[in-house]
Amino acid sequence: MFSTWRIRAVMLGVALLTISGGAAADTIVLKNGRRIIALSAVEEGNKVKYLTSAGELSLPKSIVDHIEKGGAVPMAGSPEADAANLNIAPPAAQPIGGGDSDAIERAAIHDGGIDRPYIAKLEGEARAGTKQANFNAAMGHHAAASFEISHGDMEHALADERTALIYAPEEPALLMNVAYVHLRRSEYKQSLDYLERARRVAPDNPDVAKLAGWAYYGLNKLEQAVGEWKKALALRPDAEVRAALDKAQRDKKEEESYKENESSHFTLRCSGAAAPALARDVLRTLEMHFSAIESGLNYSPPDSIGVILYTQEAFADITKAPRWAGALNDGRIRVPVQGLSEVNQELSRILKHELTHSFIQQKTHGHAPAWVQEGLAQWMEGQRSGENAAALTQIYTDGHAAPLGRLEGSWMAMGGDAARYAYAWALANIEYIVQADGMGDMERILDRIGAGMATEVALKEVLHSDYNDVMQSTTEYLRKTYVP
Ligand SMILES: [Zn+2]
Repeated sequence: MFSTWRIRAVMLGVALLTISGGAAADTIVLKNGRRIIALSAVEEGNKVKYLTSAGELSLPKSIVDHIEKGGAVPMAGSPEADAANLNIAPPAAQPIGGGDSDAIERAAIHDGGIDRPYIAKLEGEARAGTKQANFNAAMGHHAAASFEISHGDMEHALADERTALIYAPEEPALLMNVAYVHLRRSEYKQSLDYLERARRVAPDNPDVAKLAGWAYYGLNKLEQAVGEWKKALALRPDAEVRAALDKAQRDKKEEESYKENESSHFTLRCSGAAAPALARDVLRTLEMHFSAIESGLNYSPPDSIGVILYTQEAFADITKAPRWAGALNDGRIRVPVQGLSEVNQELSRILKHELTHSFIQQKTHGHAPAWVQEGLAQWMEGQRSGENAAALTQIYTDGHAAPLGRLEGSWMAMGGDAARYAYAWALANIEYIVQADGMGDMERILDRIGAGMATEVALKEVLHSDYNDVMQSTTEYLRKTYVP
């Protein structure tokens, strides 16, 4: 296994070049004839691990007949899939404050960029204090924010739209855009504050209800989410709302029959078939892991974390994952627990891995790159690089190591060997960073990523090392620690 992997890994430099290309996929064919389309699939021990848009899953190898490599599949969803996995476009609302906002937009955005001097001029005129001049300055920043949203730059969009609100605090289109950016950053509570303000001035605007539904869905308040989306549909037909409402109603129906447990940081639902003792045990385990991760990262997620324990039947129905799938985290931690009466070591490990993803997601507003997410989640659950150290060292020495910059985006289009290697390499780099100077460095790196800094720049600030330095130090660390 080791040598096969190493030989294949030599091809990796080539394989990785195609990562950003997108649409290749693997099909897992089960012995019962069922076909599962995965973004990549890889055999590991007695399991087949695979990636889907919902996260990493696994099934026992004994039920797999074979894997077909490299088919094409239409892929939905952005690499920055939000916690709720919803596909919702920015609000279409036009400003109602009067004046010629189209002309301002044309003057503020041209030649593929934002005309900052023009917007500064509008702000200068606003100081004179006329209502129209203030509205124009708001429109300049609003145009800039809309441009930034369309380019995925939520950090600057938020700053511009908030500045716009200073000049036109009651303008629903601006309030909704700020709310939208918060939603894209998984900041549901902040989003609701702006939506409430928008609702006071525009009570019947369908976009207010549409976005409020998204915020409630993200906050795990399905009842309110369904109410808002029904209201939005009554005001205006909308395919995005229809799809979101269907999803929320499916979740709600299933979960209504569930028994709810809450602890200080979790809302746990579990199916009637799961032993009540198990639910309590899971909450105890999660709270224990929460404390450990909280003090490790010096961070406490503000929103309650939703956890759903599934009998396998329900898990497959709701997540559309196969019956034998492992846990996943799509904003809520979803764990199949059939047959268990208490938390064993394996389940505890899975819970800690998935919980780490929730921490990183909230701490970085969803900006953490894949190698940091998966490296740190594996580290937190207790995995270390010993068994992979020799192979990783060899690959690096041969000049075939995957640059960390290439492991930032989605891993979904990777081939199986590349994905397996990526997990091991991500863990090794995180392990090196943590052992070199403690978890405090990791905390500072995540803070900077959360503030919108590029990951490599954050590493340079905190570790005084760029990606190449870190990879080299990681290899030296692996050699010294594990390779005889
Ligand atoms: Zn993971």
